[in-house]
Amino acid sequence: MNLRCDLHTHTIASGHAYGTIKENMDAAYEKGLEAYGFSDHAPALDGGPVDLYFVNFRVIPREYKGMRIFAGVEANIMDYHGNLDIKGKVYERVDYVIASLHTLCIAPGSKEQNMAAYIGAMSNPYVKIIGHPDDSRYPVDYDELAKQAARHKVALELNNSSLHPESVRQGARENVLTMLQKCKQYGAYILCGTDAHIWTDIGEFAAAREVLKEANFPEELVLNTDVNKLKYVINDNKYVKW
Ligand SMILES: [Zn+2]
Ligand SMILES: [Zn+2]
Repeated sequence: MNLRCDLHTHTIASGHAYGTIKENMDAAYEKGLEAYGFSDHAPALDGGPVDLYFVNFRVIPREYKGMRIFAGVEANIMDYHGNLDIKGKVYERVDYVIASLHTLCIAPGSKEQNMAAYIGAMSNPYVKIIGHPDDSRYPVDYDELAKQAARHKVALELNNSSLHPESVRQGARENVLTMLQKCKQYGAYILCGTDAHIWTDIGEFAAAREVLKEANFPEELVLNTDVNKLKYVINDNKYVKW
């Protein structure tokens, strides 16, 4: 499967990632990506950027060497209602919002609490991507998750980093295979993300591609195969032109 877009990546602004926007864009270009997005952690994560970092995204060129550029955020889900650590103008200036559960911001809850957190986040009209819902430390009901994702028109992320043997997330491979079966059943879309914290990982989807194949997952439900399919997860603002 040709995965041409990577929207889950981090820059030095995240505080624990190592590439500048330019180094990342150059790496994405060299990998032959058609679209590259950076999604730095939101302010609640230690070392993350302040609100103004995102508010100033109007200066970011949305094209580079013929490649589409998107400027997003990986927001933190802060409670079991799905409230995020971003507000106001940040929502209007970012091209997309990934909503994720991180142990530094929210303690793992019960299956019911984690589901309420995800469904609450999906109900936020700016949230179109749920980041790495593949971690056994945050158990979820995959049947309900896929059903709700399809209903809210939100994509579930297939996170390539979670599949790495050294990932802190647990049980990802098995969880992803379950999630893919449920997404197939309910017609929920998947967005593959590398979650690169250094430019060399950008566009590297080998592990994700392998599980998609194993799950016999239909290409039409994978948003990375065509830039235009990203409309499903990109918000309307004056910076993005189709
Ligand atoms: Zn990170
Ligand atoms: Zn994350």
